[in-house]
Order: sequence, then structure tokens, then C-alpha cells
Amino acid sequence: MVNGQYNQIVICAHVNPDGDAIGSTLALKHYLERKGKQATVIVPNIFPDFLKWLPGADGILIHTNKKHQELAKDAIRQADLVIICDLNQPNRLGNMEQDIMASTAPRILIDHHLDPDKEFCQAIVSCPEMCATGEVICHLLNQEKELDNISHDEAVCLYTAMMCDTGAFSFNSNRPVVFEYISRLLARGIDKDQIYRNVFYTASEARLRLQGYLLYVNMKVLHERHTAIMTLTNQERRRFKVKNGDTEGMVNIPLTMLGLRLSIFINEDTEHPGTMKLSLRSVGDFPCDQMASRFFGGGGHKNASGGKLHCSMPEALEKVKAAIEYYAEMLK
Ligand code: 5GP
Ligand code: MN
Repeated sequence: MVNGQYNQIVICAHVNPDGDAIGSTLALKHYLERKGKQATVIVPNIFPDFLKWLPGADGILIHTNKKHQELAKDAIRQADLVIICDLNQPNRLGNMEQDIMASTAPRILIDHHLDPDKEFCQAIVSCPEMCATGEVICHLLNQEKELDNISHDEAVCLYTAMMCDTGAFSFNSNRPVVFEYISRLLARGIDKDQIYRNVFYTASEARLRLQGYLLYVNMKVLHERHTAIMTLTNQERRRFKVKNGDTEGMVNIPLTMLGLRLSIFINEDTEHPGTMKLSLRSVGDFPCDQMASRFFGGGGHKNASGGKLHCSMPEALEKVKAAIEYYAEMLK
């Protein structure tokens, strides 16, 4: 997959890395190391605790972490190849964008988002039909006839990547080839039930109580628009002792309500108070990515997208309601 001339490889992913970002970058790292290369995973900022058990997670460099910063910058300077995973625009590298773009090493993009920016990488492997960047890597390994020879660690990371981006294969995973790949990962001896528990059954007490509060107190349901909006400010975060990752996946919960089609979660940014981070999720045809790019300066996938607003929470709520009204016809 990566030819002989490259030996010092940096692998990176998007800001607020999720299971696919961490799983796919670590899978590549294990693969490249097995092929005798040096590979370092660097992510822009911290990732959730429920991914820390992944093999190799303890070696990930976090670009915003003061203790990691010099190591990360050195690795990027010394790299002869940069592999960028699970994003489609350079600004999704967040605070790492400058360092990565300043590197003279060639850049390869491996991704599954729509409409990748064609300018910022020399080579692009873009497969928007695929469920996860983890699947794109399975596909590449399969093409190279390597998929049945991967290590247990590689298989664990690839499975986790696909499991996380499909809600444990509950959405975006109807293509039969996904299950063909899974079957071959299982043949490497992975324990998918344990992986599921590691990711989904590790809530803290704070997370469960926050979940109850968000649903009982903060969720607004716009019944006529089949939409729910939840909000979380930094003040509430402190009250519930919320840690990074405690809100992961919560945007999906309102969609378990009968008839609901769209769920929007407005989260005040912990690192930039006064910036509101939006998460959008839909079921069926509602285009979250269009709403995010038209109203919230973001993007993503049809059923899962995100964006930002620079304003107070009450103002954000009004802007979100206006965006919902714009799509009133589709949400009737
Ligand atoms: P999440 O709600 O988990 O933060 O993001 C869901 C998806 O929306 C991500 O996988 C990513 O594709 C997209 N996304 C989130 N935030 C942004 C953003 O600020 N800009 C763009 N272009 N996409 C985003
Ligand atoms: Mn992904």
C-alpha cells in the first residue's frame, strides 16, 4: 500500500477525533510498522476515553497537549510521507493544519466524506459510498491481497472504526461488502462483543446523569417539524462534571423517538467559550450536510453533519430554529 521509498510516516485525522478517526489511523500505524516503517499517529486534540483501550492509543500524540507538542512538530518536520484520514478539507485538521501544510512531504488523503478538497493532497483515495475510513482501508488491503494477513491489532482497529461510524452497524451499512470485510476481520480472531462493550458500555455516572438531564430538561421537541434540539453550555458542563467524550453519541438519542427525523445538539465549545458546536443527525432523506453548510458553516454526511456558530446559546437556538423553518416543507 505504501511503497519502499517512505520510511518516516505521520498519520493524522480530524479535530475532535472519533472512533473512525482513531481506529483507522491506528490500523494504518500497525500495518506500516509490521511492514518495517516508522509511523506516528498525531491528532489535533484530545479523543474520548472510550477509545483509550485501542491497541496503540497510548502512543498517539496530541497536538494541543504541551507535553506532546514538540514531539509532534518534530515528527511532522521529519516525515517523508503524511497520511491524512477521515476528513475532506484541510481546515478539519484544526490547530495542526499549519504544521501539516508546511511539511514538504507528500500528502495522501484516505477518506469517505463527500466532495473532498482536491488541492491539499498529492494523492486522494476518496470513497464516499463507504461507511467509514476504516472500510476504505479494508478495501485497499483487500486490493493488495493483504486483508487476510493482517494482525489482530489491525483487525481490532478496523472493526472499531467501522462499528463507530455506523452506530454498531445500525445505519449506513447496508452494502454487503461491509459484512464481507467484517467476516474476514472476525477470522483474525477479534472479539466483536468485547469491542462493543469497550466502546458503548463504559459510561461514567456523570454521563448517565447528564443524559437524563439533557433529555428531561433541555430537549425541545418541535413536533410539527419532527425535530428535537438539545443544548449544553459550559456552565452546565461544570455542574455535571462532564468530561470530554461524555456527550459523544447523545445527539442520536432523540432519533429513537417514533416519527423523529432530525436531531440537533448545540454544544458550547469547551476550548472556545462563546463558540457553539453543532451536531446534526437525521433518519431517511433529510440532508444534514446541506443544512450544516448553508446555515452553520460546516458539512459532513447526509445523515450526520456538524458546524459552528459564533454567538450566545439563546442566539444559536434562534438560528437553529430559523434553519429548521427553512426546511419546513421537508420536515412536515
Ligand atoms: P459530529 O457531530 O460527530 O461532531 O460530526 C459529525 C460529522 O459531521 C463528522 O463526521 C464530520 O463529517 C462532519 N462535521 C462536523 N463538524 C464539522 C465542521 O465544522 N465542518 C465540516 N465540514 N464538517 C463537520
Ligand atoms: Mn468517518
